[in-house]
Amino acid sequence: MRIVLLGPPASGKGTQGRAIASRLGLNYLSTGALLREAIETRCDLGLAAEPILARGGYLPDALMEPILGEWLDRHDSKNGWVLDGFPRSLGQAHYLDQWLSKRAKKIDLAIALVAPYEKLVSRIRSRVECPDCRWSGKTDELVLGNCPVCGGAAKSRQDDDEENFKNRHTEYVAYTLPVIDHYREAGCLFSVPATESRDAISSNILAHIESIS
Ligand SMILES: [Zn+2]
Repeated sequence: MRIVLLGPPASGKGTQGRAIASRLGLNYLSTGALLREAIETRCDLGLAAEPILARGGYLPDALMEPILGEWLDRHDSKNGWVLDGFPRSLGQAHYLDQWLSKRAKKIDLAIALVAPYEKLVSRIRSRVECPDCRWSGKTDELVLGNCPVCGGAAKSRQDDDEENFKNRHTEYVAYTLPVIDHYREAGCLFSVPATESRDAISSNILAHIESIS
């Protein structure tokens, strides 16, 4: 099964993507994680991506498409995959369609996580991470203001400042909403409210996958 996962920043794409991939035995690509790693290793891609991601921007299609093509060449196994963070624009969606149609394959399912802006902002405001043990969670899980696991000084994730979030959301509306329409027209879209608990969202998605398999 070949699945693309769409949704605004802080809608829980990473959590759901990993859950679906592990449940169904699919390969999983998070372009966000791949780029964060590229930035840490200071490779050419990382150096190009860093200033753009720092202001909450989208990377240009010309940069993202070869990265995806290379990943697909290595991971397009019989079981399939889940893509989180690609396609983010119509151009990227067309690139993916072409890559697949050249190999007589297609997308089986596009999942769109849907949440109102205010809900996403409040999620961003309450999201904290521990720099010592990498625990992440919400402010109301802190113990006397510190990490509940190791007692470290937990704080907001660096990419979670509100200005950055606002920019990412604006990019999402401009470039990714048309991608959702693209898959709706192709007849493979499944929209899920992303305001429920993570387990409820997962069950909802897995039940739909079962119904179309
Ligand atoms: Zn900790």
